[in-house]
Amino acid sequence: MSAARTTRAAELRQLLQRAAHAYYVLDAPLMEDPVYDRLYRELLELEAAQPELISPDSPTQRVGGAPAEGFSSVEHRIGLLSLDNAFSLEELEAWYGRLLKVLDRTPEPGAPLPQLPMVGELKIDGNALALSYDHGLLVRAATRGDGERGEEITANVRTIQSVPLRLQLEQPPAWLEVRGEALIPDGTFMAINAERASRGEALFANPRNACAGTLRQLDPKVVAARRLDFFAYTLHLPDGWQPAPTTQWESLQWLRAAGFKVNPNAELLPSLAAVEGFFAQWEEGRKALPYATDGVVVKLNDLRLQADAGFTQKAPRWAIALKYAAEEAPSKLLRLACQVGRTGVITPVAEFEPVPLAGTTVGRATLHNADRLAELDLHAGDTIVVRKAGEIIPEVVRVLSELRPAGAVRLQLPHTCPECSSQLVREEGEAATRCVNSSCPAILRGALRHWVSKGALDVDGLGSKLIEQLVDRGLVGSIADLYRLDAALLASLERMGAKSAENLVAALAASKAQPWHRQLYGLGIHHVGEVNAKALAQAFPSVGELATAAAHTPEAITAVFGIGEQIAQSLQQWFATAANQRLLEQLEALGFSLAATEPELAQAAARAHGSGDAALQGQTFVLTGTLPSLSRSQAQALIEAAGGKVSGSVSKKTSYVVAGAEAGSKLTKAESLGVAVLDEAGLQALLAG
Ligand code: NAD
Repeated sequence: MSAARTTRAAELRQLLQRAAHAYYVLDAPLMEDPVYDRLYRELLELEAAQPELISPDSPTQRVGGAPAEGFSSVEHRIGLLSLDNAFSLEELEAWYGRLLKVLDRTPEPGAPLPQLPMVGELKIDGNALALSYDHGLLVRAATRGDGERGEEITANVRTIQSVPLRLQLEQPPAWLEVRGEALIPDGTFMAINAERASRGEALFANPRNACAGTLRQLDPKVVAARRLDFFAYTLHLPDGWQPAPTTQWESLQWLRAAGFKVNPNAELLPSLAAVEGFFAQWEEGRKALPYATDGVVVKLNDLRLQADAGFTQKAPRWAIALKYAAEEAPSKLLRLACQVGRTGVITPVAEFEPVPLAGTTVGRATLHNADRLAELDLHAGDTIVVRKAGEIIPEVVRVLSELRPAGAVRLQLPHTCPECSSQLVREEGEAATRCVNSSCPAILRGALRHWVSKGALDVDGLGSKLIEQLVDRGLVGSIADLYRLDAALLASLERMGAKSAENLVAALAASKAQPWHRQLYGLGIHHVGEVNAKALAQAFPSVGELATAAAHTPEAITAVFGIGEQIAQSLQQWFATAANQRLLEQLEALGFSLAATEPELAQAAARAHGSGDAALQGQTFVLTGTLPSLSRSQAQALIEAAGGKVSGSVSKKTSYVVAGAEAGSKLTKAESLGVAVLDEAGLQALLAG
């Protein structure tokens, strides 16, 4: 165990050293910041558990990077430190507990936690600068460097308009040291990258790297053109200078009065609860700011207490950077699992050590197909980079091959189905690998789940677990078998009572009365989704008519609005398969109409008849996002009842896009094509005629 730890620590040290050099010296990061942060944290934890692992060259033992060549290196009058990080509110609370302990203020058990006033500031994702003033004049500006020595970049910093060259003070102190953050606003960052792209130069990874690269330009004119900005946040005055601020909050006011730009979003926070509120408030708020931030910095307000708390080797004990949820993280691959979908498609899935990402904990991510797996070059035991942004499905971005265990095996899709062991097939030109055994239990389970799902036959009480039991015990071998189950047998299954068994039998029986288009959708024919099933069911009011058209007149199928070649082919294949023909016969024998019933036909006829004056006759709608009160299917039903059509994709022919909250690319497309966009109220108004 400890040998494994030693190896891992050595690997991490080496990788992080290379990353820090690329980041601090070359301004060209090797990895995403959150990935660096997590690996760094892992190394810290290994070193804490086994202190003999700490070596003087460990990245955990130093601040930042060495000064770059091309600038003279200068010693800071007062060292610049880094900040410790907290990645959750629990870590913030643990930090506060440690702070109280150092200050000897830990409460008695059961007594309330003493509340020390703090200042909350935004953690601006730029570069720390040390500015030195002599009798009110800017005499030197330096980067943080390794915290003790930085690069002297005065000529460049002089071009930043928000850095005062002379302090606005009647009687300035003999010397003054100010620390703050230089930054590149987002708009400028994008313009710089666009310009670099047009010249074929490498792009900056993020505004912070662009800022660091700019500060290190040898030509101050280039720096001036890039319009950097600067926010001051720390003040050091000579000992005994009066009147001197006694709190961080007063320091910020002092800096402002002396002519510095101080970020206006700082707040004096009376308690830990207020700190948490500040953090929550800026989680969304920061997205509207014109510059990058990656967290908030919390600082003890009282400067005397700050001095009492002191510093660790790398960071002050009286401050902490509370970071917002990362969208990327490294994790260790545990297993390559393979899922078999209802159409037999094999999807490789990476299972890894769970990591918090964009507000949720993630432990699995799809790898899509064999090509993606090969492209990632995944090996057993690899450290991978996982990403999840907001609502987006987690993905494996890449592998950190430097951390690959020696002799690790390369991972591939299996040759046989993990469920039924039959040979897998991958057709030429197809991305998907498939199991083509129609009695594969995984395919059957998928088909059953689809048949009972909401948009299809909508059978309550038949969840995935129960389906699994029914298939595994051989009680159900096809959709039709579901309708032969009796309540007594169901009641004998795990987690089933007599009542729920009876309810399920009744729900199944009732499902036979579902309309024809739902039955068609439930069959799970490739590419026949809810919308297409509806259109097909309307054009072909019985399964016989549809099957005949599929076999003999595919042009009659593609003549249906929204239906193309691919669907016609898929229908043709489906109806030609013997097992599917058998299923249809069995369903019919069980009492399914597999056709529009009299009332359905009458309704359709009434619609067609009255359609001349229907409010939405001849208009096509696309729905996107979540509407405030109507569900998608309700909105669709209302539109169709009024003679309109609902389509899945936006084109020039679309009459209206109805957009709700978190509308996606369909809305963007509508806007770019100039298609009218409605909200729910707008739709209701149209419906009202
Ligand atoms: P840090 O950026 O996490 O925190 C310290 C810094 O925060 C200060 O130096 C200062 O510049 C800044 N800051 C912003 N607003 C502040 C405020 N209001 N008050 C005080 N300070 C404020 O720590 P770090 O030591 O600069 O470096 C670690 C950072 O660099 C991490 O984000 C890490 O991901 C990144 N890094 C990335 C790589 C990579 O390969 N991607 C390599 C090395 C470091």
